[in-house]
Amino acid sequence: MLKGRTAIVTGSTSGIGLGIARALARDGANILLNGFGDAAAIEKIRTDLAQEAGVKVAYSPADMTKPADIRAMVAQAVAELGGADILVNNAGIQHVAPVHEFAEDKWDAIIAINMSSAFHASKAALPHMQAKKWGRIINIASIHGLIASPFKSAYITAKHGVVGLTKTIALENAEAGITCNAICPGYVKTPLVEKQIDDQARVHGISREKVISDIMLAPQPTKRFVEIEELAGLALFLCSDAAASITGTALPVDGGWTAR
Ligand code: NAD
Repeated sequence: MLKGRTAIVTGSTSGIGLGIARALARDGANILLNGFGDAAAIEKIRTDLAQEAGVKVAYSPADMTKPADIRAMVAQAVAELGGADILVNNAGIQHVAPVHEFAEDKWDAIIAINMSSAFHASKAALPHMQAKKWGRIINIASIHGLIASPFKSAYITAKHGVVGLTKTIALENAEAGITCNAICPGYVKTPLVEKQIDDQARVHGISREKVISDIMLAPQPTKRFVEIEELAGLALFLCSDAAASITGTALPVDGGWTAR
């Protein structure tokens, strides 16, 4: 289905981004990986994926706090892989503290990585999509783009902002063959959440097990973490022709959390 397309997936050296990159590659898309981590481990992810999926896979070390890096990442996809047809804005970090104690550098980093990077990457990729009259932008927001929880002010602000950006990009490009949607996951067990379990345990003064059962899975009616494959499956569907009329949405994948 995606043979001949190129997908940029930010924050794809780990977790949800890596799962989405794998799904798009297996469907035939060339992939530009991005994110931090051990250089040898990233190179192994790159070569394994290229071999397994039979597609071209490149890597950009772009830092999502740096607009110039983000522009270079999109330019690299166009130069090395032939386009910027699919953009998955996924890179993200978390920090947990009450507003009156929230470190200002953490606020700035979360707003830059979780929100502004989606603007900069979309701005750079859209002209390439518009030229081909086809494009898909998928923003990995969060259930926290739709509702709030305590102690996550920067993350919730950024994710609500991403949902707004999603709607605006969708409207501006509705007649151009380009869709823009946000996926809003509930809790997924990735390295980001593993760290949060420790942080929440510290903030609330409770055990890791209590954080999982009483805080994370309590509002998620399925009482289990969302699987990365479930998110990758939705991302793949949003890239299909069958999803051409789905645009400007914020789709919860939250085990029923927002049905309450
Ligand atoms: P993760 O920590 O496993 O992966 C985050 C990725 O972002 C990594 O590849 C990391 O290297 C990259 N990254 C971090 N800072 C970066 C920067 N400055 N520049 C470039 N890359 C950077 O986390 P995850 O859980 O897979 O999260 C992926 C996305 O999903 C995030 O936007 C997160 O907010 C969102 N999300 C996660 C959950 C969850 O429960 N895990 C729920 C809802 C939404």
